[in-house]
Amino acid sequence: MTLQGIAASSGVAIAKAYRLELPDLSFDKKTIEDTAKEVQRLEDALTVSKSELEKIREHAKKEMGEEHAEIFSAHLLVLDDPELINPIKEKIEYDKKSAEESLQEIAAMFIDMFKNMDNAYMRERAADIKDVTERVLAHLLGAVFPNPALINEEVIIIANDLTPSDTAQLNREFVKGFATDIGGRTSHSAIMARSLEIPAIVGTKDITAKVENGDMIIVDGLDGVVLINPSEEEINTYRDKQTNFAKQKEEWAKLKDEATTSKDGQHVELGGNIGTPEDVQGVINNGGEAVGLYRTEFLYMGKSQLPTEEEQYEAYKSVLEQMGDKPVVVRTLDVGGDKELSYLDLPKEMNPFLGFRAIRFCLENENVFRPQLRALLRASAHGNLKIMFPMIATLEEFRQAKAILLDEKEALKNEGHTISDSIEVGIMVEIPSTAVLAKQFAKEVDFFSIGTNDLIQYTMAADRMNERVSYLYQPYHPAILTLVNNVIEAAHSEGKWAGMCGEMAGDPIAIPILLGLGLDEFSMSATSILPARTQIRDLSKEKIAANKDKLLAMSTAEEVVAFMKELTE
Ligand code: PEP
Ligand code: MG
Repeated sequence: MTLQGIAASSGVAIAKAYRLELPDLSFDKKTIEDTAKEVQRLEDALTVSKSELEKIREHAKKEMGEEHAEIFSAHLLVLDDPELINPIKEKIEYDKKSAEESLQEIAAMFIDMFKNMDNAYMRERAADIKDVTERVLAHLLGAVFPNPALINEEVIIIANDLTPSDTAQLNREFVKGFATDIGGRTSHSAIMARSLEIPAIVGTKDITAKVENGDMIIVDGLDGVVLINPSEEEINTYRDKQTNFAKQKEEWAKLKDEATTSKDGQHVELGGNIGTPEDVQGVINNGGEAVGLYRTEFLYMGKSQLPTEEEQYEAYKSVLEQMGDKPVVVRTLDVGGDKELSYLDLPKEMNPFLGFRAIRFCLENENVFRPQLRALLRASAHGNLKIMFPMIATLEEFRQAKAILLDEKEALKNEGHTISDSIEVGIMVEIPSTAVLAKQFAKEVDFFSIGTNDLIQYTMAADRMNERVSYLYQPYHPAILTLVNNVIEAAHSEGKWAGMCGEMAGDPIAIPILLGLGLDEFSMSATSILPARTQIRDLSKEKIAANKDKLLAMSTAEEVVAFMKELTE
């Protein structure tokens, strides 16, 4: 069987399916006669759950460090807590209810109690109790509870969706690819797959309904296709495709240390987008000339509390040092939208993408914002740092954020720290109001980085995560190109530079357009850098630029694509 989805990360993977989902945890109620035996069943399930959690904790510690293992220590504590366990046993003994029912009732009571507390930390405990008691319940029912961190054979993950923290738990050695029901090219699971350099298909709509654990799967991240239980012949065809792709990569690799120069001698900068200091190596190996976007929110995810200033300083310093004198653009915290932080206790919103997020949140929570700025400023002594603020909608927001930055800079200098004096301060242009008003912004910012992932969704009013409206998510729409052009022209008229760090920057159809519009810096998934360089070396920038007015006067994305095809062939 073949399913079509959205190609989210290139390459071909062939391996067995591993379904990442909660098993069916329903059960029939019954009265227990031998309560001692039932208590023993509970004890056994607790023991297996604990040894599983210990293994996961050890694994997480080894792979991702102490910080990421913390959450599993918290889970272990829950299972050792007599205040939770004793009432379950009492329910079995006195009410003669099954271990399953007793566990579920007591857990529900605690979850309810914690959920309604004022303190965000205590509310977070509700999630811990839910997580661990579901694990114990699965063992009581003899169901398989998925443990992605413990995978020890080559697999392809099949899931409805992967949250950023699910993706962060995946073991790079054994997870060969993934395929999901929902999501688009710019959902964070797709972005993470590209930084892990594993093939991925998202938005297949119903792969979880069609695949069983252990089915043979082919993920073709080049054409957006998933094959379920393919024939021997199909496997051979895809093995060939895998080999050809590897050869193609070798060709691209020859340009690793070359400059990115168009056929008519115009230079542009190609950078990589990263989520963690570990991703820098991928950017360097793929010939990146900069880090054009460091998404710092990953430092804040998969934990139970905010990262300290010191932890952040170490992470930023590591990225800067690895890049040497090459530019590193760090974006301040961009939470909200699809990037949730449970411990920050943000209320659920009707429209999270339009809500209290990113700079809006940071300006109101200086206790979160200032430590990040301090860590960045301190790290500036170790490389070529540029700072940018996400989701800027008004000039006041930029001025306010910059004032806080300057305030911390002053304070740190007074404390005796060495801070670089050449840190550029820019903004993401991802809200249409800012793209329209770029001329006014250009007088005050040092640079722009166009975040098309959001700019397209806000301009076209089409959710970037929703495959039902993905037909409206049109990077080549003349409305988008007009905004992009406006930003680039505004930057240049003030002697500033304009980059792009949305996924559009690495898109082979968009690249010639952006080159012609005069984009100075393209920042993309590391694996797109070398194909982009290869492409740009074959393009004439002036020829495309000469057709700019014609391009911007077009009426549909389709016309744009057809015109560009003709122009660049
Ligand atoms: C963007 O919106 O284009 C962007 C780069 O930011 P993110 O994908 O993290 O929202
Ligand atoms: Mg964005």
